Amino acid sequence: MDAQILKQLAQIVGAKHLLTSPEELACYSFDGTGQSFMPEAVALPESASQIASLLQLANTRRFPVIPRGAGSGMTGGALPVRGGLVIAFSRMNRILEIDRENMIAVVEPGVITGELQSALQKKGLMYPPDPASLKFCSLGGNAAECAGGPSAVKYGVTRDYIIGLEVVLADGRIMQTGVRTEKGVVGYDLTHLFIGSEGTLGIFTKLILRLLPLPEAKATFLLSFSSIADATTLVGEIMSAGLVPCTLEYMDKTAIAVVAGRLSSPPAKETKALLLIEFDGTAQQLTDTTARFTTFVRSKNSCTLQQATNAGEKKELWLARRSISPATLSLKPHKISEDVVVPRSKIPKLVAFTEKLADRLKLIILTFGHAGDGNIHVNIMVDKTDTDEYQRGMQAKKQLFEYVISLDGTISGEHGIGTTKAEFISMELSPTTLAVMQGIKTLFDPNDILNPGKIFPSSQHP
Ligand SMILES: Cc1cc2nc3c(=O)[nH]c(=O)nc-3n(C[C@H](O)[C@H](O)[C@H](O)COP(=O)(O)OP(=O)(O)OC[C@H]3O[C@@H](n4cnc5c(N)ncnc54)[C@H](O)[C@@H]3O)c2cc1C
Repeated sequence: MDAQILKQLAQIVGAKHLLTSPEELACYSFDGTGQSFMPEAVALPESASQIASLLQLANTRRFPVIPRGAGSGMTGGALPVRGGLVIAFSRMNRILEIDRENMIAVVEPGVITGELQSALQKKGLMYPPDPASLKFCSLGGNAAECAGGPSAVKYGVTRDYIIGLEVVLADGRIMQTGVRTEKGVVGYDLTHLFIGSEGTLGIFTKLILRLLPLPEAKATFLLSFSSIADATTLVGEIMSAGLVPCTLEYMDKTAIAVVAGRLSSPPAKETKALLLIEFDGTAQQLTDTTARFTTFVRSKNSCTLQQATNAGEKKELWLARRSISPATLSLKPHKISEDVVVPRSKIPKLVAFTEKLADRLKLIILTFGHAGDGNIHVNIMVDKTDTDEYQRGMQAKKQLFEYVISLDGTISGEHGIGTTKAEFISMELSPTTLAVMQGIKTLFDPNDILNPGKIFPSSQHP
């Protein structure tokens, strides 16, 4: 990127909002993978029209543009792997509208997910997608990854709540997709094509979100098991008994151990797995559900059941659950973090497989996550400076993916492909499917300026 380009970038966003010093660039060089690639410049635009001008310039001068939300992604999506310009949305972080009558909100991409949720809660409304990173991730990043969270088991994922977008295309044109209405089927569903596109098809500058009424209350239960198989088997049994939890989270004994210190009453030593389960609804509905649920669980005789009795206890349980991912780094300095999904009935097989894999390859592998929808986080802990251990970790990752696919599962439920899974994508997608996807990328971005090096294996990149 030469001095003339930098000058033009500064003219577009204002010199104050173009970062070029090494110290400033370093702050935008990493994400949740722990990897780091330096951008050549970072622009902090304030409007879609500024972003349009940035993309027109990038298309003419052919430099990469990498949209970046909060940089919490787990697959390298926001990393400037080929240098270029990072566009960050810290100045585009306004909640533009909360329309209660029509149950929608309109937001800029830099709004932090948890901040929108708090603002809605005060009005008795809810935007359900709740990634564990909600205190720091952005809605633009959520849309680009199609983020999910514990509540997906009942409410679905980001895709189910974005009904329209404003997108800046690679050539600088600004496009609106979708509707502001409950329904709409005019033309192709471009909104859903953009969701999960990992910054490779366009840059979101406005999101129209569908809202729900906030449930009156929640009942929170912690189930402790002395057998992992009992815990994972109960997941499917709860769902098929017609009980509909709004969260059903699972933690194995290693995941429990890394956060046990955050609990005022840590689980008993013999605990091998926990399920954190919540139901929501009106007070009357919760009384009925609690009675049905406790009777059902006790009839299985496979765990001890506790109910959180106050807001403090609930908060503590959720803090511990949301802290698992960062806390795993107390085990080893690095991790290979996977978010595979299998049909719920196959979770016991998946978890048993990871235990055998850990034994066979002499690795620490822990499992936790959104068991209610079959999305199990498998964290393979390694020290990258130990080459042998890292290679065993990568072997474990490949074998895990092979097994997940053999169980009719998928290699990513919510973190996306980015760079870390790009070389594995053809394990799941056929050559025809991949070719169609690459055709879509070329149609939207013929010069490959938008987040190049992501999703497709480098050998097959358009
Ligand atoms: C501790 C921890 C827990 C996590 N838990 C979960 C979880 O429960 N569920 C889950 O789904 N994820 C989880 N994640 C992963 C991560 O938080 C999500 O992928 C999140 O959606 C990323 O948002 P971000 O704002 O940080 O995006 P970034 O990491 O900055 O970017 C992610 C992708 O979005 C693209 N992008 C960002 N903004 C835009 C935009 N405006 N237009 C177009 N593309 C854009 C980027 O180019 C990149 O490809 C977790 C991460 C951490 C560190």
